[in-house]
Amino acid sequence: MKLVVASNNPGKLREFSEMLGPLGWEPVPQKELGVSECEEPHCTFVENALAKARHAAAVTGLPALADDSGLCVHALGGAPGVYSARYAGEPKSDERNNEKLMSDLEGQSDRRAHYVCALVFVRHANDPQPIIAEGEWHGEIVDAPRGQGGFGYDPYFLVPDLDVTAAELDAAEKNRRSHRGKALAILIERLKQRG
Ligand code: IMP
Repeated sequence: MKLVVASNNPGKLREFSEMLGPLGWEPVPQKELGVSECEEPHCTFVENALAKARHAAAVTGLPALADDSGLCVHALGGAPGVYSARYAGEPKSDERNNEKLMSDLEGQSDRRAHYVCALVFVRHANDPQPIIAEGEWHGEIVDAPRGQGGFGYDPYFLVPDLDVTAAELDAAEKNRRSHRGKALAILIERLKQRG
């Protein structure tokens, strides 16, 4: 079963393929189907994910899955939040985003943070009943990067009960624990309920 994934982020695409492949879905990145990146003008994750899913479904005629995700840092009032990908401005850069995060948190003792993922599945562009699922992953921000895996803020995101960063987890372990993994598990359950 083909579905278009409304993302061009290689880290996310890899995680979706790992999680959906074994269930018989064939996630196809939107870029391969000629879908341009959609605007993300909203201030909530779920609204942005819905806009991306409808756009990808409209262009391709396929069912679409979109995610909008980001990192919310307590001491920064929830920033970078929906602006996580472009926290340090254009062009998007994980390296510059992490530098900005370190500078914004300098001298700050409250290091609590959580990732959020909103996932939206639409059967077609005007689907009146999108399937929506959200997941969160709570941790802390460390001062020095650790690990080579994952993407984005992962080298700085400590998983307290394991004392490793998200970038030190192997892919399967990250998928089990992550905001995206949790949201996808909920989404898959809802898809099954809908038949
Ligand atoms: P989006 O593509 O607009 O949803 O932006 C998501 C951004 O949030 C990414 O570019 C990363 O900066 C950050 N992000 C979301 N999920 C993760 C994750 O699992 N690890 C690290 N960074 C993430």
